Amino acid sequence: MSRSNESPVWKLEINGIKLFTKVSATEAQCNVCVDAVTNGPKKIKLTTGNTKVLHDHVSKHPEYKKQLDVLKMQEANQVKAQKGSLDKFLTKGNLQFS
Ligand SMILES: [Zn+2]
Repeated sequence: MSRSNESPVWKLEINGIKLFTKVSATEAQCNVCVDAVTNGPKKIKLTTGNTKVLHDHVSKHPEYKKQLDVLKMQEANQVKAQKGSLDKFLTKGNLQFS
């Protein structure tokens, strides 16, 4: 699955270690936290289609949090850039009519 609108939390990776892996539609795992019971990666329950709980969990891992902030900023800049070129296009279009 590589939908372009996927949350940046799934892309967080440091030194080849991905922070989150999707286990199923309703479950993810944190590859950094160790589950006290299974001694394996910690499982995190997901509300379907909602990664808020993962965004909250990232704050437990400051170095990944920093990466998330950078990704979010890049995404915001991309949206801004797309909007900017659209504005330019619209302005150009308007000029033809004036
Ligand atoms: Zn964790």
